[in-house]
Amino acid sequence: MVLAWDYDRVGATLAGRTRMRFAMLATAIAEKNAYEVALENFDLAANALELEEGVRAMIKYPERILSVSVPVRMDSGKIVRFEGYRVQHSTLRGPAKGGIRFHPNVTVDEVKALATWMTWKCAVVNIPFGGGKGGVTCNPKAMSLGEIERLSRRYASSILPLIGPEKDIPAPDVYTTPQIMAWIMDTYSMNVGYPVMGVVTGKPVSLGGSLGRNEATGRGVFYTIVSSCDHLKIELKGARVAVQGFGNAGSIAAQLLHEAGAKVIGVSDTRGCIFNKAGLNIPEVMAFKDRTGTVAGFRGSESITAEELLALDCDILVPAALENAITEGNAGAVRTRIIAEAANGPVTPEADRILESKGVFLIPDILCNAGGVTVSYFEWVQDEQHLFWEAQDVYNRLERVMKTAFGETFKIHTERKASMRLAANMLGIGRVAEASRIRGLYP
Ligand code: NAD
Repeated sequence: MVLAWDYDRVGATLAGRTRMRFAMLATAIAEKNAYEVALENFDLAANALELEEGVRAMIKYPERILSVSVPVRMDSGKIVRFEGYRVQHSTLRGPAKGGIRFHPNVTVDEVKALATWMTWKCAVVNIPFGGGKGGVTCNPKAMSLGEIERLSRRYASSILPLIGPEKDIPAPDVYTTPQIMAWIMDTYSMNVGYPVMGVVTGKPVSLGGSLGRNEATGRGVFYTIVSSCDHLKIELKGARVAVQGFGNAGSIAAQLLHEAGAKVIGVSDTRGCIFNKAGLNIPEVMAFKDRTGTVAGFRGSESITAEELLALDCDILVPAALENAITEGNAGAVRTRIIAEAANGPVTPEADRILESKGVFLIPDILCNAGGVTVSYFEWVQDEQHLFWEAQDVYNRLERVMKTAFGETFKIHTERKASMRLAANMLGIGRVAEASRIRGLYP
């Protein structure tokens, strides 16, 4: 379905009370400045790599930051102005690449952080892209589909000078969908005068999208969990899993883990958290969420709090919502053996230290959720060549890329006695540093 993911399932007309709860939850988890976290993690890796000062100066900060004003005519006839951004962190290894987020908490610092992570992420999986990100501060859950279309098209035309298949290629992120990517592709194409499929990825398959893109992030998360279990000698069959955030990344990861015989004992979204000690029937939870817009109230489960979900006694915890889910405030309560960061930046540096001291094995975001951008790369290649691949071909290539990146990160982790996060940052930042040395400084 084109209008897949959470927005469509939730619908555009949530009750006011739910909207308020959504806003409160979102605010509660956005307490740490994500860009400061990104810079802190860069410094740790740059020090471990003993990077020269000149190289640090060339690769650490965003190359370009565009701030745009996005006026939209609402259904009422009133014109409302939204703030939007597009950040290109790096084009050293290829065009900037990164999603667009529509969310009430979007700030320029959040977009800068997400763009920075995209640069290291593309380098970790060794695809020829730099890093970028975009966002509009808005609450799409309180907007109609027509309002979202007008917002998407106006935002796309505002960032038009920056984007293009050779320059910067957006994709979906939180609360943006394949349909929104199709509108952006259309807006770009109408402006240049001919169809340009490769300007965005994550498009519907009928419009130059790739088979397997919609489930790519969750599938990549799954492959990294399989690799971790192999290394840690954890039997996936019967392993207990908790997933925070049952959207695109979280629900697909949960589904694949369920199919592999793991017991998904808890899942959540903005409207509630559900638990079943014996394991939830994930396909049924997905169907229930499709019908009702939430996992809350699923038959055969009990309701628990957001804090209880993150503190469930389990083997694998998958934070798949937003930044700062696990902080120094709640890291002590976490009881899992593996954390698989499907979301970007869900664990703060303070929480990292607490979890490390508890012996929790972390699959860091720039490795764990890199399946999405990897299949976006496949989509871009297919668009540029006008030649499309079978789904199984996409899965096989994705599995190879994810398992190679996991192996390379794990090698640094063991050889350098670095945490998995530091190891992944060293791998990604090291590759970008190498590209900057070889390209040299212009002029
Ligand atoms: P999505 O919009 O499909 O789903 C997000 C889900 O999180 C929704 O179910 C929402 O209800 C839930 N959520 C939000 N706040 C929550 C909270 N406080 N508690 C519990 N649930 C909450 O978004 P997505 O595309 O799945 O993205 C989720 C995360 O994965 C983001 O951090 C995103 O940057 C990252 N990511 C996504 C992709 C991708 O291809 N979709 C790729 C890489 C990384």
